[in-house]
Amino acid sequence: MPERALITGGAGFLGSHLCDRFVKEGYHVICMDNLSTGRAENIQHLIGHERFEFIKYDVTEYLHVGGELDIILHFASPASPVDYLEMPIQTLKVGSLGTHKALGLAKEKEARFLLASTSEVYGDPQIHPQPESYWGNVNPIGVRGVYDEAKRFAEALVMAYHRYHNLDTRIVRIFNTYGPRMRIDDGRALPTFMSQALRGEDITIYGDGSQTRSFCYVDDLIEGIYRLANSDYIEPVNIGNPEEISILEFAREIVNLTGSSSKIVFKDLPIDDPKVRQPDTSLAEKVLGWKAKENRSEGLKTTLDYFRSKISDRQPV
Ligand code: UDP
Repeated sequence: MPERALITGGAGFLGSHLCDRFVKEGYHVICMDNLSTGRAENIQHLIGHERFEFIKYDVTEYLHVGGELDIILHFASPASPVDYLEMPIQTLKVGSLGTHKALGLAKEKEARFLLASTSEVYGDPQIHPQPESYWGNVNPIGVRGVYDEAKRFAEALVMAYHRYHNLDTRIVRIFNTYGPRMRIDDGRALPTFMSQALRGEDITIYGDGSQTRSFCYVDDLIEGIYRLANSDYIEPVNIGNPEEISILEFAREIVNLTGSSSKIVFKDLPIDDPKVRQPDTSLAEKVLGWKAKENRSEGLKTTLDYFRSKISDRQPV
């Protein structure tokens, strides 16, 4: 009998890559998604596979899954600032109620539980780069707080289930990640810049573009998560690529790569937009033997090919 994995948010950008990886590793994968920000298209190629099932369901409702489960990977949540600003209550619900339901199911099935947490738990960080030991600088009542605080609550709940119910748990803190299957209209910097460059529209930089991010290619991230799932490390682990770049420089890289004639224009910086972000990944290196490998220019090329094909197919992306 293959081991059985439940992946919530399995039709999303990261969730669908995880479905691929777990199917490839021989698991029977149950992908659960309410398709609020996930897309059936991301998992279409898996439909019909004998070790894959899709359940369209909202994880904040009472959860029942028949049969045994060996691992639950809880990835359901809007994850781009534009999405969670449009769905603030659902974002809070999936991080709190959804995590609670998924943990309850893990307890019932005696399954391992892995939470997708985020670098957003560090907020607008005052320590740079960010190690796991940093407690963060989050505005709880700001517009981004719906995501940041939901994930902080989710981490607290996971640790409580671990300590009180002895549940076997893992927490990954995911930093900015990119690659094929991002939604071109999700509002994040990379898809926005790529679609603007490909369509010859102005590139919209928020603020002066001096804020930094560190972008990890999706394959590296999935490898890190897979290793964490198979490790015995309970406390949060940062997974991300420490190569830091300003948003302005990043936009220029994309314009050069596409050969676009798009102009760069400056817009207001959103409220509470973190000024810097860079993972300290020494813990992942130590406990997982993991470190990001893909360099940005290669990763960006692959991602650009994906967006180019989506735009030329005129498919909804
Ligand atoms: N950003 C931008 N133009 C856009 C979209 C985003 O300048 O059209 C900026 C945004 O303000 C932030 C950075 O790019 O400083 C990364 O934003 P993203 O939404 O990708 O993710 P975040 O790291 O803020 O969650």
